[in-house]
Amino acid sequence: MNIRILSKDTNYLRFLLENVDVAFANALRRIILAEVPTMAIEEVIIIENTSPLFDEILAHRLGLIPLKTDLENYVLPEECSCQGAGCTQCQLTFTLEREAEEEGVTVYSGDLKSQNPSVVPVSDKIPIVRLARGQRIVLEAYASLGQGKDHAKYQPVSTCAYKYKPIVQLEGDKCEACGECVTICPKGVLDLKNKSIVIKDVLNCSLCKSCEEKCEFDAIHVDADDSSFIFSIESTGALPPEKIVETAIEIFEKKVKQLQSLLA
Ligand SMILES: [Zn+2]
Repeated sequence: MNIRILSKDTNYLRFLLENVDVAFANALRRIILAEVPTMAIEEVIIIENTSPLFDEILAHRLGLIPLKTDLENYVLPEECSCQGAGCTQCQLTFTLEREAEEEGVTVYSGDLKSQNPSVVPVSDKIPIVRLARGQRIVLEAYASLGQGKDHAKYQPVSTCAYKYKPIVQLEGDKCEACGECVTICPKGVLDLKNKSIVIKDVLNCSLCKSCEEKCEFDAIHVDADDSSFIFSIESTGALPPEKIVETAIEIFEKKVKQLQSLLA
């Protein structure tokens, strides 16, 4: 198996996974979506709430705020020595106190005060509720690690998808360089240079085969390499995208070892 990074920034990663089959690629995708843990608010104690939102709606909105996740210092509550009762290894506390004294105010995710400065909302500008004059909320919220298979709020990614690696072949001797394939390609894969067709960016091809259909001379062939995949991952900001893939591979390895020990 080979991994080659194609592009990468803070929350986005595109990589090429080679020499694996589709079952492997799909298993990796599903582990990323359902099993890589992230932090989210799971329990809320409302001390005071005179806002227009019911306690339940407020708690739901808090739960959906993506939190920067610290996988080194926290464990899943079910794997914790406290057996899910809640301790400093598996839980952390946020407090929120806000009142609209003179005029209406919007309460944002940035108003949540975290017990641990390394676990905070990924953005300070997520609106929670709008308070009118005189309204007030005071609450305590408990965040813990969880997995996407239990609740979508724990999914570390907003996008995780793959496609087959495209193979585009040109037959120069049949080609008349009419340029029809260049015009019809919606992804800008082909180009017309010095009166001949060249491949500009083969990995951008979406395998739509419009070029193949348009070509009157049967000079272009588009195929998929079914042992190579282009993965696109967009993180919610909870974890860096490369950490998501790394953790997914570790989980995958653990699963394989478990299966091996069962079969042994
Ligand atoms: Zn614990």
